[in-house]
Amino acid sequence: SKRVAVLTSGGDAPGMNACIRAIVIACEHLGYALIGYQHGYNGLINQEYESLSLNATHNLIQQGGTILHSARCEAFKSVQGAKDAARNLNTLGIDTLIVIGGDGSFRGAEHLSQYWPGQILGIPGTIDNDVAGCDATVGYYTAIDTAVSSIDKVRDTADAFERIFLVEVMGRHAGFLALNAALASAADYVIVPELFESEDAELKSIAAQIEARRQLKGPVSFIVVVAENVWPGGLSTLAERLSSQMQSEVRPVTLGHVQRGGSPVSQDRLLATKLGTHAVALVETDKNKVMVGEVNHKPVEVPLKATWENNKPLDDCSLSTMRITMNNRY
Ligand code: ADP
Repeated sequence: SKRVAVLTSGGDAPGMNACIRAIVIACEHLGYALIGYQHGYNGLINQEYESLSLNATHNLIQQGGTILHSARCEAFKSVQGAKDAARNLNTLGIDTLIVIGGDGSFRGAEHLSQYWPGQILGIPGTIDNDVAGCDATVGYYTAIDTAVSSIDKVRDTADAFERIFLVEVMGRHAGFLALNAALASAADYVIVPELFESEDAELKSIAAQIEARRQLKGPVSFIVVVAENVWPGGLSTLAERLSSQMQSEVRPVTLGHVQRGGSPVSQDRLLATKLGTHAVALVETDKNKVMVGEVNHKPVEVPLKATWENNKPLDDCSLSTMRITMNNRY
């Protein structure tokens, strides 16, 4: 009977536990042995693992974080690191390794495949949604929710003081989280890397929007959602420039790591459960070095390489909605 291993790697995301739970149950159902490696690829190199059975799944679907812990692992990037991992997998007689993580973790999986002949399957888990080949990654929907409820609160105080606020949202180098959190919180403006052109153009546009509002209504609140890593010099630089241009206070708020935590929302639980189950269903097939994902609510298998080599554009529908419901320059 097959022996399966699972690990979580890279940035943690809500729903990783729901995914582990589904994998445990599916393996149990099909009679496979399952072990969980701890601390991402570190666990593979250091042979840190635990056997996972049904008693690990109690109350697991709703827990944020990952019971296997996640980590980055520099050593794994070397040839020796991958060879050590391969040897350890062989020692335990593992047939299939399931990696839950982002594109970095999938690059790691591809690297391992050069030294280990077993089956490797990926499941997209990151709040950034920056993995090509799937509509959504596990954790993304929860992170939108977390950002939205924070922006709602910023809105209350912005309204009370009729102030301009800048809210920085995570996303690594992608604008999915920022754009959709901005739409769902009715923010006034959004800056994302996919559309960013120049500092001057953005400043001019934001200033014009605020000015137009003031003419119409007098003092107003104004919320700009800014994707992380997009503004040269960071959020405080933007705050200073906008403040001197508008002759009023501008408050920067960085949401930070709260966006990575929390109990997963139902969309993430469902996605995680379906993808975990689907991955285990591939164990006895010849599918290898693929990520399982969902496109238009259907399961897909995508070569690992395509998950980072292909570009993942912001979806057209969110963009056209943004153009109509927000006064963006784009
Ligand atoms: P994420 O999976 O969230 O994108 P990272 O980019 O930090 O997170 O990648 C997680 C881990 O995957 C890294 O710490 C490293 O161990 C491994 N990894 C990433 N890129 C490579 C690579 N090019 N070659 C080998 N391993 C890699």
